[in-house]
Amino acid sequence: MFLWLRHEILLQGLLERLASGEVIIGDGGFVFALEKRGYVKAGPWTPEATVEYPEAVRQLHREFLRAGSTVLQTFTFYASDDKLQNRGNYVEQKISGQKVNEAACDIAREVANEGDALVAGGVSQTPSYLSCKSETDVKAIFRKQLDVFIKKNVDFMLAEYFEHVEEAEWAVHVLKESGKPVGATLCIGPEGDLAGVSAGDCAVRLVKAGAELVGVNCHFDPTTCLKTIKLMKEGLEAAHLKAYLIAQPLAYHTPDCNKQGFIDLPEFPFALEPRILTRWEMHKYARAAYDLGIRYIGGCCGFEPYHIRAIAEELAAERGFLPVASEKHDAWGSGLAMHTKPWVRARAQQAYWEKLVPASGRPYSASLSKPDSWGVTRGDKDLIQQKEITTENQLKEMFEKQKIVSGM
Ligand SMILES: [Zn+2]
Repeated sequence: MFLWLRHEILLQGLLERLASGEVIIGDGGFVFALEKRGYVKAGPWTPEATVEYPEAVRQLHREFLRAGSTVLQTFTFYASDDKLQNRGNYVEQKISGQKVNEAACDIAREVANEGDALVAGGVSQTPSYLSCKSETDVKAIFRKQLDVFIKKNVDFMLAEYFEHVEEAEWAVHVLKESGKPVGATLCIGPEGDLAGVSAGDCAVRLVKAGAELVGVNCHFDPTTCLKTIKLMKEGLEAAHLKAYLIAQPLAYHTPDCNKQGFIDLPEFPFALEPRILTRWEMHKYARAAYDLGIRYIGGCCGFEPYHIRAIAEELAAERGFLPVASEKHDAWGSGLAMHTKPWVRARAQQAYWEKLVPASGRPYSASLSKPDSWGVTRGDKDLIQQKEITTENQLKEMFEKQKIVSGM
């Protein structure tokens, strides 16, 4: 009986699961997590670890699955051919985009089959778009990844991390060719995309392009992302359009961000740790997202498996079960009742952790930073793609510009 039920769950696709009222839980930001483990280089942020260190990618998928993820995204972030051969990153020549994408699909499927998770084939923004290449050229880049996703039969498609809705529309058009469900998330805040399109209009355009699931990922903290998704929801309602909503924010607090998001924070990417959300803050995010009507709730950069577990634990009553990893985590710190020290046993209660305002431990640390705000985006000469490594002169020019902008 149990096996039969499990089989039936496996046969259900994303849209059937969402239509039945199931809350889908996403996974976390692989590039950030694997960079910290030593398998991804900050800078290019490309996922050749799928070929070089498949066991590291497999293990992270397993940890997210165990923590409660019902979707495993293929580790194909920035795995477009143009990104794999950008600024001295010669992955395309050394390994090939096809191999990186194929390995990502195989690993995600292998682990997804260990539970009842779905596999999402993901594409993201391209240097070609930022370099003002044509719609035909940019679409051809996405289509190469899509060919692999179709061959490997992923369950649905996700276009994520787009700063410009126009490029996301192009990605959705291409992904729709698969006939599978398509989700689209922009990495924008409440101010809208980098071309000045409002969040509401972005959502409308993505649904009109064919996306069944729309929302935001990356670049901003959960609070800001939910504000943006609320605007998207209102835009869709005003246009009498329907779509499922998806949130995959950062696990970093970013109230001081401008339109460009956490990339502009001076701490990006090597000193963001003081901003990490606690598991208890993730409970609040999960509840707020659920109350807003979002039914695909996950994370992006900064998310570790324990953050996803917190989402699954907060929504355990709605979903009807706890994740496997809760075997080692009793609700709201109650496992501390087993602690040796009495004052720690006194913390084995929800009221304690819910009220706690954690200290930073940094006596000279400011609460907020001033974003860089260079205002550079698509069409700027400094964003043009080049295959060759960044030269010393090009770097010097950037160092000088930084001095002027920051007033040093
Ligand atoms: Zn991210």
